[in-house]
Amino acid sequence: MVIRLSEIEDTFVVKGSMEASQFMDVENREFHIITPVNYVLTARKFDNLVTLTGRVTLEASFTCGICLEEFSQSVDVDMDIRLTPKAEIPQVPELELGDEDMDVYCYDGDEIDLDPFIYEEVLLNMPLRPICKDDCQGLCAICGKNKNLEICDCHDTSRTLLGEKLKSFLD
Ligand SMILES: [Zn+2]
Ligand SMILES: [Zn+2]
Repeated sequence: MVIRLSEIEDTFVVKGSMEASQFMDVENREFHIITPVNYVLTARKFDNLVTLTGRVTLEASFTCGICLEEFSQSVDVDMDIRLTPKAEIPQVPELELGDEDMDVYCYDGDEIDLDPFIYEEVLLNMPLRPICKDDCQGLCAICGKNKNLEICDCHDTSRTLLGEKLKSFLD
């Protein structure tokens, strides 16, 4: 979505969505966005500095890092970014603006296309090591079965051996 700075009084709510297909070109992605990416953002203008705060929501499928199963999960991204005019970047020291948690981007001219910023923020905030659930049991090291789905009869001999060794060491 494109906003025009000259049309913003001081606060402006931007609601919109981006198609999942706009995220298809991400290289090495470990996720797959399966719903439109919706956003509700508040734009605030302070002279020529613009802040965008709000929430981006989407649903994506991931591969669990433990059991390797695909699962889908909704992702909420809290967006809190600052946009400064391109020409002014060198004159705006990071420290003076405080709040170093905010990501800073620049814009050029009166029209600002929000999509690239939303795109960046979504990628930055996707889970790095997705797991299907907190207590995922993973795969059996011996037979490879997904222990979330099946209980196998394997005994983890390596662990037992280590335990025995440890015990004799401690004795
Ligand atoms: Zn899992
Ligand atoms: Zn097994």
